[in-house]
Amino acid sequence: MAFGVYIHIPYCVKKCPYCDFNSWGINGGFPESEYTESVLGELEFYRGEIEGRGLTSVFFGGGTPSLFDPESIGRIISKIYEVTVPERDIEVSLEVNPKTADLGKLKGLRDAGVNRISVGVQSFSRRKLDYLGRINSPEDGRRILDDVRSAGFENYNFDLMYGTGGETLDEWRRDLEEALRFGSGHISAYCLTIEHGTEFGRLFKKGKLLLPGEDALSDFISYTTEFLGGAGYGQYEISNYARPGFECRHNLLYWKGEDYLGLGAGAHSHLKSTGESPWGLRWANVKPPTAYMKAVGEGKRPIGFSERLTREEAIEDSIIMGFRLNEGLDLQGLRNNYGVAPDLSRIDSLREDGFVEFSGNSIRLTKKGTLLSDEIIVRLVNSLG
Ligand code: SF4
Repeated sequence: MAFGVYIHIPYCVKKCPYCDFNSWGINGGFPESEYTESVLGELEFYRGEIEGRGLTSVFFGGGTPSLFDPESIGRIISKIYEVTVPERDIEVSLEVNPKTADLGKLKGLRDAGVNRISVGVQSFSRRKLDYLGRINSPEDGRRILDDVRSAGFENYNFDLMYGTGGETLDEWRRDLEEALRFGSGHISAYCLTIEHGTEFGRLFKKGKLLLPGEDALSDFISYTTEFLGGAGYGQYEISNYARPGFECRHNLLYWKGEDYLGLGAGAHSHLKSTGESPWGLRWANVKPPTAYMKAVGEGKRPIGFSERLTREEAIEDSIIMGFRLNEGLDLQGLRNNYGVAPDLSRIDSLREDGFVEFSGNSIRLTKKGTLLSDEIIVRLVNSLG
């Protein structure tokens, strides 16, 4: 069974107005060494559960992990490798904000064991970057991508965002074209979403944020899939496109419901094979970095929320995750893992109406179905026998 470790670095130079991740503006400083020690300490708490397990991937996300020194990152990787058994082709990813890394740091990260970089470019358009309140400029994006290649990384992603107010398809096409020039194997194309509790959420509520309508967004999605598909990038998940062999192994763990241990403030974990619960266990750490470090310092697991999954929840999770993937929901897997199978006669109308399609042992959402995915998932769950 695949297994990965996620490490959350919760600090950012400043909070972006649309962001609802567990990220905290640094206001000039952040306790890198204390936080690193806490992550190492937290890992020790789980030694009994994960010692000797094969390790598929490691992912440093944030926040802005590239604020940290390669030496801190290297210490964490070494400790993880001391406890687990890394696979020979292990994937070790780290998210980089273009403003917080240069060639020297990228080379250091490579020496520390990172072999995949995910760059938060978001756009090459000055207008869009200003709208999004990003600290990086178009020039930062171009420079960092050159540096990533010069540092010797062959596996790298960049994040792009569409759906900003006033954005045209032409502006988005220019972002995609520029991205292709850097020849990355992987592109994540996210639609801007307005989250409750963010600055954009507040502006939206007051009617002060201009956003594209549903028809325009549907055009962006179709255009992206067609454009990247034509350039050899398969859409393997709703927002993720890759050339063959460059799919992110760590993210696939999440979408396939595999095991992962999250370390750091606010990090989430999921283990499906525990003695405590036959259907799996998931938990999340406390979010504030200070509370996280305090708990670890006191020798306590810094858990803010945990639950034992019921069989029904585990099945529902599998369906939701399966529908995110382009390969669809593996019906044989559902049978093997939970002894259930959908009553196909009860969902055939979904196929006839063009919301889902069958392929071998899988069922997947069509483009039309993606827009109604919540409703379809409920119908599928109700059809299980
Ligand atoms: S850099 Fe990323 S994680 Fe940090 S505030 Fe901006 S969007 Fe959030």
